[in-house]
Amino acid sequence: MQAAHNGHQLALLLLDLDRFKNINDSLGHSLGDQLLAELAKRLRAALPNVETIARIGGDELTLMIEPEELDRLGVDLLAQRAIEIINQPVALAGQEIYTGVSIGIALYPDDGDDAETLLSHADAALHRAKDQGGNQMRFFAPELGQRAHARLRLEADLRRAIEHGQLRLHYQPQRSLQTGALAGLEALVRWEHPEQGLISPGAFIPIAEESGLIVPLGDWVLNAACRQMRDWLAQGFAPPRTAVNVSAVQLSQGRLAAAVTKALEENALPPERLELEITESFLMSDQERAMKTLAELRELGVRLSIDDFGTGYSSLAYLQRLRVHKLKIDLSFLRDVTSNEANAAIVNAIIALGHTLGLEVLAEGVEREEQADYLRAHQCDLMQGYLIARPLPPEAILAFVKDRG
Ligand code: C2E
Ligand code: MG
Ligand code: MG
Repeated sequence: MQAAHNGHQLALLLLDLDRFKNINDSLGHSLGDQLLAELAKRLRAALPNVETIARIGGDELTLMIEPEELDRLGVDLLAQRAIEIINQPVALAGQEIYTGVSIGIALYPDDGDDAETLLSHADAALHRAKDQGGNQMRFFAPELGQRAHARLRLEADLRRAIEHGQLRLHYQPQRSLQTGALAGLEALVRWEHPEQGLISPGAFIPIAEESGLIVPLGDWVLNAACRQMRDWLAQGFAPPRTAVNVSAVQLSQGRLAAAVTKALEENALPPERLELEITESFLMSDQERAMKTLAELRELGVRLSIDDFGTGYSSLAYLQRLRVHKLKIDLSFLRDVTSNEANAAIVNAIIALGHTLGLEVLAEGVEREEQADYLRAHQCDLMQGYLIARPLPPEAILAFVKDRG
């Protein structure tokens, strides 16, 4: 109960294997014990930051989840992950053994502020989970359960959306501020939900990141954008480059360079036509790993840009080591650049910094002519925003380019 003293939240999860008695009866206690030990080992490997995994009863495990982990994943997704892990078969005594698990969850301090109360409340929730058929989780406080349920449903829907082709890419043009020429396109994902219509990425990218679905989703985006580039090239439309957003999770996962290589090869694309947008926050979280991944990507010849620049805290020394090609000034600084001196100063400083480091500088979220004039007068290189066009489906991009070049 360390957290009691720091004013933090903490979650207590009680896990109880479904039908464990049958397993014990049919396989014998020692194999039952081995099964439990193996499952505890898997949980520990998959959830390394979870505080305690202890066996307290014949068939029970307890997980204690600390505040940092709660912030990162959310207790509902973590519990769901535990269920998925336990549902994987275990090979024991020459057979594959399948088990289910019921989970009861109590939160400190909302559901109790001492260990005994928390345990008894987690136990009550566990019994409800079992009563409802097992292999599921229940929160002690029902309203938390409803929120968790809605989120899990969205996650399940999103998983299906990827498999069933409900994702779409829209493209937003970028132009040179000096010449007005088309400089590139940014691919932005949308979810065409069968009932809810077009859903914007802000509503599902965070869930995709938390659940790990961002990896298959990111692969889909990368491949779809590369296929589109190939189709456009075949039709004689050759935007200098197309940018794809890449999540921090994809970068820390270590497979990105291989996925990029494959997508480029399969579509016979020169690497410099592809740009990857990464955010500053990723750059701050795991520097050495970030450097390694970025170096691999640079080796491949793809272009790299830093998205939403100015909202994170990159050190200048670090920025120089990164050797990206472009900075994208976050749209929050652009909104009132012509009337807010503080934001104007930030925009000017980013342009100067970028140019000093030999990088291209793009301003995002340009909606009005006066913003474009300001940027042009301050030597910003490129702009993107509703002033040029909203993100458009691929057919509309072709029409747009035919129309306005
Ligand atoms: P972002 O990469 O910074 O993309 C720019 C966002 O600003 C887009 O929102 C775009 O529609 C919006 N925008 C463009 N011009 C203007 C303007 O003039 N005014 C205003 N107010 N907004 C403008 P969108 O499409 O909703 O995407 C939101 C964010 O979702 C993106 O921000 C990006 O971080 C993320 N995202 C989108 N597609 C993907 C993807 O395929 N993978 C990943 N990991 N993230 C993605
Ligand atoms: Mg972007
Ligand atoms: Mg941005």
